[in-house]
Amino acid sequence: MPRCLKLAPMTDTTIHTGRCFCGEVRFEARGAPRFVSNCHCESCRRASSAPSVTWAGFADAQVTLTGASLRGYASSPGVIRSFCGACGSQIAFRGERWAGETHLTVCAFDAPETLAPESDHFEAEKLPWSALLGASHR
Ligand SMILES: [Zn+2]
Ligand SMILES: [Zn+2]
Repeated sequence: MPRCLKLAPMTDTTIHTGRCFCGEVRFEARGAPRFVSNCHCESCRRASSAPSVTWAGFADAQVTLTGASLRGYASSPGVIRSFCGACGSQIAFRGERWAGETHLTVCAFDAPETLAPESDHFEAEKLPWSALLGASHR
């Protein structure tokens, strides 16, 4: 997931809350995300059993876990994908290539409609029947 360095204005005090399916894992992200994008890579697909995953990237300092601890899975070298140990919802992604950032699954937020994706990544791995964002959505 390449990132665009669109840093949050310091005045943005929005608190985005979210949770896993069962509610044991809860989290908050403060302020605007650095990016929101759809990832079509095979790893995201397998981790979620869905054609793509929409991620919101935040600085680590913006993110607070407020519920149960996440369980982690090293899906590739330097990458940890984290999920609820009770219900299995995929919640977070951290990778050495994105040091200092926590990427959260947009659909685990309580108001995912407020975090619209701006871009597609790993389009080369996209399933042929899975749609990319139209230009009108950018
Ligand atoms: Zn859960
Ligand atoms: Zn991916």
